[in-house]
Amino acid sequence: MHNNLVWFRNDLRVSDNTVLLKACQTKGKVIAVYCFDPRHYSETTFGFPKTGKYRAQFLIETVINLKETLSALNITLIVSTEKPEHILPKAIKENTINTVYYQREWTQEELDVQELVEENSKHLEVSFKSFYDQFLFHPSDIPYSNSYDIPRVFTQFRKQLEKYSKVRQVLPKPELREKDNLLNSSYSIPSLSDLGLETFETNSKTAFPFQGGEVSALKRLQDYHWITGYLSNYKETRNGLVGKNYSSKYSAWLANGSISARTIYWDVKQFEKERESNQSTYWMVFELLWRDFFKYVSMKHGNSLFKIGGILEKEYNWSQHKATLKAWINGTTKYDFVNANMIELRDTGWMSNRGRQNVASYWAKELQQDWRIGASYFESLLIDYDVHSNYGNWMYNSGVGNDPRDRKFNIESQAERYDQMRTYRDLWLGNTLF
Ligand code: FAD
Repeated sequence: MHNNLVWFRNDLRVSDNTVLLKACQTKGKVIAVYCFDPRHYSETTFGFPKTGKYRAQFLIETVINLKETLSALNITLIVSTEKPEHILPKAIKENTINTVYYQREWTQEELDVQELVEENSKHLEVSFKSFYDQFLFHPSDIPYSNSYDIPRVFTQFRKQLEKYSKVRQVLPKPELREKDNLLNSSYSIPSLSDLGLETFETNSKTAFPFQGGEVSALKRLQDYHWITGYLSNYKETRNGLVGKNYSSKYSAWLANGSISARTIYWDVKQFEKERESNQSTYWMVFELLWRDFFKYVSMKHGNSLFKIGGILEKEYNWSQHKATLKAWINGTTKYDFVNANMIELRDTGWMSNRGRQNVASYWAKELQQDWRIGASYFESLLIDYDVHSNYGNWMYNSGVGNDPRDRKFNIESQAERYDQMRTYRDLWLGNTLF
């Protein structure tokens, strides 16, 4: 008998999940583990909660859903609030596990945990198998022999991938397994207060009533592409600021792996075949390529992502001014457009891409405040926080990353262009009927 354990990380789904499928393709028992790692509920270097309440709530919902979808396959999910390096060796021993499967990560904190888990399991006869599964274009399928060759400029990267690479097919869900004796054991999923966070009511003005989990992710896909058909106009609406449908909102589910980028890609391809192929359908894939780009940038540059000079090792005169930070966070700066965006983030955990670019540019380029503080605040608040996209975009907007033009946003003209009727600012600054 060969027993397998799937260690879930940011791949919290049962469909198109390489790690889960590989484990299920072998004979023997399959059990699964997810840890609410206490380190994720501590503070960032700059003093913010590392995972704020919005993302934590979304994650709790995601794990509840994962437990149900796994249970429907007769796979038990062990949920723990202990560190993976403590709980995994225990689970390996108790269940005489032969192989542990997990999604491979490369950022320092994730690598450290991987190493600790393997180190603490050394005395057990267990092997570890890890796979990259978070990309649209798999690392083995891109036209570069290693990450050092990834171009600095996105356009070059995109054109080469579009020309030379293919997206892998979506994998099937694993088949139903025989019942295992752990199935009835109860592993409780922590609440926000168990994680040291306060409970909250969803703000009625939220751009999107996010619900965590694979089932909601697939429902959103169905909705955005097929039911409403908003995908057909995505290129025209994607710079919007108000409402559910100006953009897809896939980022939150993509960030914790409730849906794979491949699933979205192949659904867009199906839509192009059956319904319509236009600039908007192309642009959805174009944006998913940005997501991949920042993953490869982080793979190439490692810890430079978190250093003040960024990947360019630039030396600027950065400040760390407390009152300036307070005003930025609470939306009391001189720009009402920045204020509206920062209040939306503080009160919902969400901000549009247009908003993110503006508030980041204002913070780093105009106020010349340490960009890492802004990135760290985003890390705490964003429901869709993803280490590669967040730090990659922050570097880009702060002049220490991949922007070849090193642009600074003119906040007033951005507000005039994207919020001409003030609908967005009125919504969040409270001047109208909303
Ligand atoms: P859509 O416009 O519908 O795009 C579809 C998908 O394409 C997104 O879900 C996302 O996966 C990808 N995408 C789109 N734009 C980008 C981009 N600029 N970079 C990388 N991927 C992109 N995105 C995150 O997922 N997590 C973050 O932590 C994050 N932090 C950011 C910080 C700053 C300062 C900035 C400027 C951008 C950040 N982004 C981040 C990128 C982008 O703002 C969000 O991905 C996007 O707003 C999510 O909304 P959506 O899913 O409706 O996007």
